[in-house]
Amino acid sequence: MDKCSFCGATRKNVDILLAGIDGHICNNCIERGYDILQEDKSINTKSKFNFKDLKKPKEIKAYLDEYVIGQNNAKKILSVAVYNHYKRLSQVIKEDDIEIEKSNIILVGETGTGKTLLARTIAKMLHVPFAIVDATVLTEAGYVGEDIESLLVRLLQAADFDVKAAERGIVFIDEIDKIARKSDNPSITRDVSGEGVQQGLLKLLEGSVVNVPPQGGRKHPEQKMIAVDTKNILFVCGGAFDGVNRHIAKRINTQVIGYGKEKQEERIDKNNLIQYVIPDDIRKYGLIPEIVGRLPVLAHLNPLDRDALRQILTEPKNSIIKQYEKLFEMDGITLIFKDEALDYIVDQAIKFKLGARGLRSICESIMLEAMYEFPSQNIKEFVLDKNYAENKLDKTVSTKFKSA
Ligand code: ADP
Repeated sequence: MDKCSFCGATRKNVDILLAGIDGHICNNCIERGYDILQEDKSINTKSKFNFKDLKKPKEIKAYLDEYVIGQNNAKKILSVAVYNHYKRLSQVIKEDDIEIEKSNIILVGETGTGKTLLARTIAKMLHVPFAIVDATVLTEAGYVGEDIESLLVRLLQAADFDVKAAERGIVFIDEIDKIARKSDNPSITRDVSGEGVQQGLLKLLEGSVVNVPPQGGRKHPEQKMIAVDTKNILFVCGGAFDGVNRHIAKRINTQVIGYGKEKQEERIDKNNLIQYVIPDDIRKYGLIPEIVGRLPVLAHLNPLDRDALRQILTEPKNSIIKQYEKLFEMDGITLIFKDEALDYIVDQAIKFKLGARGLRSICESIMLEAMYEFPSQNIKEFVLDKNYAENKLDKTVSTKFKSA
């Protein structure tokens, strides 16, 4: 009687029994074999990082250029840091070898200048798990809020719980400035979102094995913990550090006092002090020295001027305008934005102090009517001029922005 050569099931007991040269295989065993193959494939593709495939710093920057406007200094620093980080990961350390230390990164610049975008774009390029966490929700263990470990839960989720892949991932910690120690916060009352959190974070940045509750939170005390080693996780921290200019200005002023003062002062661009930021300014702002020490790569992001905002609208590979054009194209409509309309959108973003983040919401208000009506109409082309933009923005929600 024909039998599956793997599990021994007879033809009667299975749906399909395939005959080979010297044996048979049933549908159940084929399915099981397929699952094993898939599992193996995903382990190999996700966890293996091949240094040979890594782009050189110049290529990394060129990739960033496709998505992020300006910020050349930050792009360069980030490209080198990421390249070195993955060089370090590929290092097979022999005895007496020089060990390359991890270089976590801190990005300093106003909100909406591209800090998250930079980190996200890098992660996309590297095909490594990437998680964004907001430092403001982190608290010391035992307080209401999220424990520091929750940061790794996000990373594990992004890696589909492939621990090896997560251990080579990138975590972007946003608003790191919000956990700065506040000088007016007396230490008698516990500083829930300040120094304690920084101490917790320090352990992760330094590299340690952390037990992570896979579901996050403390609601499932019985859940099995997953051990994650943070040694090779690249941490990129971002913060606006509102008011850090004060520390920068003070430092620069004391530095330039004395011989050649006028000459040096001339060279200082007072309108953009953030470009002179150094780690000590961040420490003075309220990050503990140990944290500052664990974020040795510091890059600043410049405020976005009119030209940059205008470029952001149209130039990045997936720019806002390109996205609308694509949406309309899917309905067979050619969408054309006139330059005057684009200038108008930029003007409004500046006027309402909404920065790059505002470009999208302004565009949404302008486009809503067209996106609602046109798919049901027989329109082949739509030219959007300033008049139309002005009209729609005024009519619909300009009050929303005016009050923003
Ligand atoms: P941040 O993290 O600095 O607060 P984001 O990176 O989240 O700012 O930027 C918000 C949005 O603004 C991005 O999703 C992007 O659309 C746009 N944006 C900001 N800066 C840039 C830039 N330099 N180039 C292209 N787009 C940008």
